[in-house]
Amino acid sequence: DGLLLKVDDLHVEFRTRDGVAKAINGTSFTLSERETLAILGESGSGKSVTAQAIMGILDSPPAQITGGRIEYCGVDLLTMPEKKRRQIRGEHISMIFQDALSSLNPVFPVGWQIAEMFRIHRGMNRSDAMSEAIRLMERVHIPAAKERANNYPHQFSGGMRQRIMIAMAIALNPWVLIADEPTTALDVTVQAQIMTLLKELQEESGMGLILITHDLGVVADVADDIAVMYCGRFVEHADVHRLYDNPAHPYTVGLLDSIPRLDQKGTELYAIGGLPPSLTNLPSGCSFHPRCRWATPECRVGGAPAFIEVEPGRWAACHHTEEVLHRDR
Ligand code: SF4
Ligand code: MG
Repeated sequence: DGLLLKVDDLHVEFRTRDGVAKAINGTSFTLSERETLAILGESGSGKSVTAQAIMGILDSPPAQITGGRIEYCGVDLLTMPEKKRRQIRGEHISMIFQDALSSLNPVFPVGWQIAEMFRIHRGMNRSDAMSEAIRLMERVHIPAAKERANNYPHQFSGGMRQRIMIAMAIALNPWVLIADEPTTALDVTVQAQIMTLLKELQEESGMGLILITHDLGVVADVADDIAVMYCGRFVEHADVHRLYDNPAHPYTVGLLDSIPRLDQKGTELYAIGGLPPSLTNLPSGCSFHPRCRWATPECRVGGAPAFIEVEPGRWAACHHTEEVLHRDR
């Protein structure tokens, strides 16, 4: 399938009172049509910043992209003319956020808000735009869409509001949809329903999907690939089955062990002790070494371990991947 997005060696820094925070330190990945990539990490790992850099919604200053490329269909978004860039980011690449209530305008009916998209971007008249809005609400399975188009955001449940956000995000038929923790505020059943909806819309349109999450359980059933982020770097990237079955990076081992699993009852849990380091003062060597039970002196010196293909289709940044893959389980 066609390549949509190529992020290459992206670097983002923030100026803070404590100095320069290295939020993203050389992230690379691609996204093709019909592909779902999950970016997994703790809060502050750089996953939202990656999305914001792609969308061009980093606050600048204090945030600054200090290196790398973000190509959409082969053209670098960071250097293309502003007008073209704004069009791509509005129409071709779209994003949904965790908190639907604060993203929707409380004082306008939801149908009106969706219809505005068609009025502004497609030049439709009021009644055509409203028909499109209702059609879109039906497409995201909002019952009685025609009547509910007149309701205000607070009159919907959290799950229904997230469906409305999704409707707005896909209104202009984007090729890339980025969802940043889209279900975090919802209960488990509704989370699964929203994920199913996103997959269904992807099947209809062929769009590429980036799911940003701190919870592997939410994305395990829907993602093709998972990229695990720590301190602004990808530390492991593999297809979901392989990564879930046997992680190659100690940080991924820790993340998986912190999910209760039926198939590994009785094994000793490896909880990740400690906290992520400050981004203004990253440890030397591997950023994970203060928390890693496999760490050796080699891990504490020099730069970050290279992100290399440790087996076909699996990348990891760790000096001891072989031992991690063949650990006692
Ligand atoms: Fe742990 Fe060393 Fe691998 Fe870093 S490089 S994850 S410290 S074993
Ligand atoms: Mg976030």
